[in-house]
Amino acid sequence: LDTLASACSDAAGKWRESGIENRARVLERAADNMASRIYELAAVQVREVGKQWDQAYNDVCEAIDFLRYYAREGRKLFAPVRLSPIRAERNEQRIRPRGIYAVIAPWNFPLAISCGMTSAALVCGNGVLYKPADESEITGRLMWEILIEAGVPRNLLALVPGPGEEIGAALVAHPDIRGIAFTGSREVGMGIIASAASPSPGSRHIKAVIAEMGGKNAIIVDEDADMDVAVEAAIYSAFGFQGQKCSAASRIIVMKEVFQEFRTRLVEAARSLIIGDPLDPGTRLGPLVRGEAEEKLTRYLAIAWEEGEELLYRHPMAIFQVEGMEQRICREEVFAPLLVIMLADNFERALEMANDVDYGLTAGLISRNPAHIARAAEELDAGNIYINRSITGALVGRQPFGGHKLSGIGAKAGGTDYLSQFIVPVSISQNLVRRGFSPEFPG
Ligand code: NAD
Repeated sequence: LDTLASACSDAAGKWRESGIENRARVLERAADNMASRIYELAAVQVREVGKQWDQAYNDVCEAIDFLRYYAREGRKLFAPVRLSPIRAERNEQRIRPRGIYAVIAPWNFPLAISCGMTSAALVCGNGVLYKPADESEITGRLMWEILIEAGVPRNLLALVPGPGEEIGAALVAHPDIRGIAFTGSREVGMGIIASAASPSPGSRHIKAVIAEMGGKNAIIVDEDADMDVAVEAAIYSAFGFQGQKCSAASRIIVMKEVFQEFRTRLVEAARSLIIGDPLDPGTRLGPLVRGEAEEKLTRYLAIAWEEGEELLYRHPMAIFQVEGMEQRICREEVFAPLLVIMLADNFERALEMANDVDYGLTAGLISRNPAHIARAAEELDAGNIYINRSITGALVGRQPFGGHKLSGIGAKAGGTDYLSQFIVPVSISQNLVRRGFSPEFPG
């Protein structure tokens, strides 16, 4: 790591001097390259992490969107700004890169999230040591190749694959790292935040941390909901990519008036999903990413049975009907196709239940009641709120994405503030009233 970090530092000066226009163009070239290889890049994900074709295709689209969006936002951010034009004083704000970033990525959006974090750091003039998730190293390698081919200096962007507990942890602790862009589990994210908060002796920097973590996301279905929309949104949000999305719905809170109808239709819709090999484009539900994830799901099924929950359906996804909110399957992220449905006596209670978790990532409401829609927009405690649609699939620039509470810290990915986390702004104030003359002044 020392060698990579020092080569990265050496390359960073030139990259910074090359200017924002050059850096933005590099990102745009990479986007064009990805667009021309979209089916190949999607196919790798189908093979590597078991995504369905449509989900894999969407992931590549999102990566392309990130590249183009951050190129555009970078041009805006680095445009010179003159502040308060008063006489005899020049005030300006200039932007500097922060230094070297560790980008630590998850496997579930293996190209999009890696590409978003990496391209944001690069366009701002930083160097990057990039660690893909162990499960998606081929996709990580392809992203690295494409960025290098597009013009990122080879030493400026280093690919550092390896086990998270070793390589990831070493990156986080490395004294040359000035910032960490992490997306992954709460457990690892909280460890990174803690580690970054205690700089090693002699270090003169506080590492900036962006940590996007998990969710336990709810959709409320109220008594005025269009049931076709409700069932479709619940199924897609809960079981798309086998529920392995931070934004996935894992709780559906249904008002008592429509509970029976919704429950029956949800189970029938789940029964109709085509389960099989993701290589087949007709497949709607495939395998979990690895054996450990299957074991985790099995563990939580056992917990649910022990807690006495009513299993409504299982094949291989699981739908439970749950009373109360204290059960572990109502509170902990399982990251698998495990869905609970719960009954709420009134809308007030439904909002309370939706918010009564540690996380605050996505949430949704299915309703035709304008008063309920207005309250949900104001009172659902989540970073991304969706009304009358699925709660996954945020688009860059259209639904800037990111949560709060224990779901993360940092500005929204794909939003206007995101790049400002990768820079150091410097204010320069110059007194223009001179006394006397400088002897060296040639005029
Ligand atoms: P993970 O935390 O296990 O791994 C994420 C990355 O961290 C990997 O590259 C891994 O190798 C690395 N890592 C593991 N241990 C580390 C350590 N001790 N120090 C430094 N790095 C370490 O998560 P995952 O299984 O890859 O992804 C699933 C999780 O990610 C879920 O919790 C999901 O909700 C979350 N996620 C969140 C978002 C979001 O935008 N909020 C998006 C996608 C995924």
